[in-house]
Amino acid sequence: MGRFAPSPTGPLHAGSLVAALASWLDARAHAGRWLVRIEDIDTPRCPPGAADFILQQLAACGLHADAPVLWQSQRTAFYAAALAQLRAQGWVYPCRCSRKAIEQALLARGWQPQRHGEKVYPGTCRPPAGTVPAEDAVGELPAAWRLRTLDPQGADLIVTWTDRRLGQAQQNISQTVGDFVLRRADGLWAYQLAVVVDDAAQGVTDVVRGADLADNTPRQCHLQHVLQQPRPRYLHTPLVWAADGQKLSKQTGAAALDLRDPLAALAQAGQTLGLPPLSAPTTADWLAQAVSAWTERWAMR
Ligand code: GLU
Repeated sequence: MGRFAPSPTGPLHAGSLVAALASWLDARAHAGRWLVRIEDIDTPRCPPGAADFILQQLAACGLHADAPVLWQSQRTAFYAAALAQLRAQGWVYPCRCSRKAIEQALLARGWQPQRHGEKVYPGTCRPPAGTVPAEDAVGELPAAWRLRTLDPQGADLIVTWTDRRLGQAQQNISQTVGDFVLRRADGLWAYQLAVVVDDAAQGVTDVVRGADLADNTPRQCHLQHVLQQPRPRYLHTPLVWAADGQKLSKQTGAAALDLRDPLAALAQAGQTLGLPPLSAPTTADWLAQAVSAWTERWAMR
């Protein structure tokens, strides 16, 4: 079971089509099903109509989901249930640190932005291992909920995972990100939790998505482990680069896919995926040929 899970913060661009196409081809090459999930949990960042437009763009390219589209904005009860399960097991705790407080705690420990880069949560609010926060632990003030990234013995958590294209990788989550947020103080659910809960609920066996998301994989593997969910296989596809050398993304203002010529868009995405040039009169013919090409290139890995 494969899936494409766009955040509807804007229309699909050439880079997002690569992930959509790759996940579709991989599902077809395995005689599997392909799902579309609209990741609209961060509602303020999702302009009205963007999700419907993405679905139209996919349809124009001949990419149709095999089941009704799942909308994350309608799944908050499932994220709440997962958080409750983790709380009962002592894996999560409430945290009221402001960004500034986190930075100050890090600076006090000798953290230097230029040398150490990303902020790693210093564990200020983390209770001793085995502590199960009470139902009313949050009290009056809003709090974020963080997931422990130390094992129950207090040792660093090191996750090893395999990507079908990039090979084996390892990350010490405790040192690289630290205890990460599953639910923000303002009530927004974090991508990490939503994606893991939904991939498991939808029976996704193969996650195929852009390489810009590869860094999230160890955190998601950790969450799968603590939620006792199976780990899917992963394939992170090459990115499309803009002329100025930047990754193509909605944030950098990438142009929306031109729906007037879906074959050209598919050909460009196919090239990024290392498929040979295909000549086909319709998107359906192009996709059928691309499934064979994909099978030769990727399906056996
Ligand atoms: N919603 C994420 C995005 O559009 C992708 C999630 C995923 O494929 O895991 O960047």
